[in-house]
Amino acid sequence: MKYFIFIICYLTLSFSNDFDYKLKPIKLSENSYYFYGKEEYFSKENGGDIANASFIITSNSVILIDTGSSKSYGEQVKKQIEKITSKPIKYILNTHHHPDHFLGNSAFSSSDIYAAEFTKNEIEQNGDLYIVNLVNLVGEAMNDTKIKAPNQVLTAKTLNLDGYKLDILHLDGHTQSDIAIYDENTKILYASDLVFNKRTLTTPHANMQNWIKSLEELQKIDYSILVPGHGHASKTKEPIKENIAYLNYLDSTLKSSVKEGLDIFEILEKPIPKEFESFTMFKEEFERSVINLYPLYEKDLKK
Ligand SMILES: [Zn+2]
Repeated sequence: MKYFIFIICYLTLSFSNDFDYKLKPIKLSENSYYFYGKEEYFSKENGGDIANASFIITSNSVILIDTGSSKSYGEQVKKQIEKITSKPIKYILNTHHHPDHFLGNSAFSSSDIYAAEFTKNEIEQNGDLYIVNLVNLVGEAMNDTKIKAPNQVLTAKTLNLDGYKLDILHLDGHTQSDIAIYDENTKILYASDLVFNKRTLTTPHANMQNWIKSLEELQKIDYSILVPGHGHASKTKEPIKENIAYLNYLDSTLKSSVKEGLDIFEILEKPIPKEFESFTMFKEEFERSVINLYPLYEKDLKK
């Protein structure tokens, strides 16, 4: 009997160590894929799988764009890639410093990890705080997740990885530094969190005017497929247009509310505009943005 209980405990422990993300790569072109993250907030049920990650198989290696929210996610990404190719994941790009995009780095011990200087510094300085926060929100899926900071700083506008050329767009607005990646070989634009497709934008570190300018830059690119940071890939310019419209709506609502002397509750009572009815998480994210940003708008406009 004792032996039986031991086996049960052992099995429970060994399974509980490994949250199953059930990842499935979605094919974008011959050698390009992405993993679609759920349009939800961090939870124990989703294990923090709420952002997209992408990869490109080149002639000698694999380039991974963002690594998800935990070591376990990174490891499961690796397993999925190994089912498609035996080439090594030599290169990783971290698009920005939000934890759903870089905490999976810890699964990749021998890859070169590229990021802009600001992103690299943020990960080095504040990465541990993100882990503490996510352990609370996500729980066991975070097991063994440690900070693995980028070891390569991205400054140039093009990156040549084993002969595979990528355009690097150094932009900002979603955070203080957001990298978008354009692959001229496939005409795929990896827009990072500068674009959310039908998923309401998150603004905890946003500068809305800069974000709009960055979106206008992305709009000029003649891409065939757009891979957003959150939401499904798209073949149209619609997601960019909708994101600009949303940011303008948020900005103008906050400005007019200060003028009218509304309080936060009165702003949140406003009906959802028709054009954003199809956005997921509108209520939660709009509320979060208003609560964070309204005091700043009040301060600025009452000067
Ligand atoms: Zn983000």
